[in-house]
Amino acid sequence: MTIDLEALYIDLHRHPELSFQETRTGGVVAARLGELGIEYEEGIGKTGVVGVIANGEGPVVWLRADMDALPVKELTGLEYASTARGTDPAGNDVPVMHACGHDLHVTCLLGALERLVATKDEWAGTIVAVFQPAEEYGAGSQAMIADGVLERYPRPDIVLGQHVTPLPAGTIGVRSGTQMAASDGLTVTLLGRGGHGSRPHSTIDPVVMAAATVMRLQTIVSREVDPRDVAVVTVGSIHAGLKNNIIPAEAKLELSLRYPDEDARARVLAKVERVVRAEAQASGAEEEPVIEIDHTLPPTINDVHATAQLTLAFDRAFGDGTVVDPGMFTGSEDVSWFAREAGAPLVFWFWGGIDQQKYADAKAGDTIDRDIPTNHSPYFAPVIQPTLDRGVDALVVAAREFLG
Ligand SMILES: [Zn+2]
Ligand SMILES: [Zn+2]
Repeated sequence: MTIDLEALYIDLHRHPELSFQETRTGGVVAARLGELGIEYEEGIGKTGVVGVIANGEGPVVWLRADMDALPVKELTGLEYASTARGTDPAGNDVPVMHACGHDLHVTCLLGALERLVATKDEWAGTIVAVFQPAEEYGAGSQAMIADGVLERYPRPDIVLGQHVTPLPAGTIGVRSGTQMAASDGLTVTLLGRGGHGSRPHSTIDPVVMAAATVMRLQTIVSREVDPRDVAVVTVGSIHAGLKNNIIPAEAKLELSLRYPDEDARARVLAKVERVVRAEAQASGAEEEPVIEIDHTLPPTINDVHATAQLTLAFDRAFGDGTVVDPGMFTGSEDVSWFAREAGAPLVFWFWGGIDQQKYADAKAGDTIDRDIPTNHSPYFAPVIQPTLDRGVDALVVAAREFLG
């Protein structure tokens, strides 16, 4: 082994970078690709890196790893915990942590590439390694596509990727069909009429309008969506007013919506719009509320045949029972843009990073939700092994399964 993967992981973990700022990470990736003799280009989609291993006639397999970290202050207490800080898009100085495990994704992909280079005489085809920026903004894959990643490099016959998750280390979770939800981020601006806090009758109060709207939005999932279906309506941000005796002129809500498919998306969006407009009308608003969609992520849909094939390959490599169906996750991903734009199948799987004993204890005590930190938690701390080895092995098994 030329790459010390544990040291590489700890280095990346100590130096997390926010979305579209992954310059050091991209530099580390580029240096390692160079050492492995893999041709690469940097700066794709701002901070992305693409490496290509052309090894004769055969299928083109894309392996994707995302690189960005989050504005979270790490509280894991690990010896290698991050103390890094960064500047967010609004110019705020913020703590930065690899709270989603993308440092593992980068490390495992580099480890897998090393193994695939070393075994070149056993396979044929082309590997395109995509180190993607800004997954957490849901914008990195589209930035790479806009930068011509599908035209500048061999187009994929299949797109593969993985994400570390709070399953027991060693376990792989993958399901056929919809693996992750579609999502939209919305900003709703409720327009009232400002005035003196002592004279509410001469105003149209957007604070009351916002409060009523938030409560009524909660009835969409509880009263209008079929209980057998999955949907989420979260109001994650609410802002209005500056002072107790001023009724402000407007209120802003920020919503996160999740659903499994386009039909559900259309239905839930229509319901949100109906509630927002009706509550404004109920408040006597003279201006229609403004509803803006800030970003949209498609559902992450795993190809049925490729997923069945890969599940068998994982079972063969790691033993029966390694692969579980984790159910559909209400989280969202932007990896599927690559497959969608290329018209290629996608398989995106999860693999566990939680100490097996710790997970078993939490399961026995029915305290998984409390005791097992999830991605984006300041306590998210995957165990290095066997997580790292399993992540490398899974990528190699998957790539080999679809290469010639
Ligand atoms: Zn994340
Ligand atoms: Zn992530």
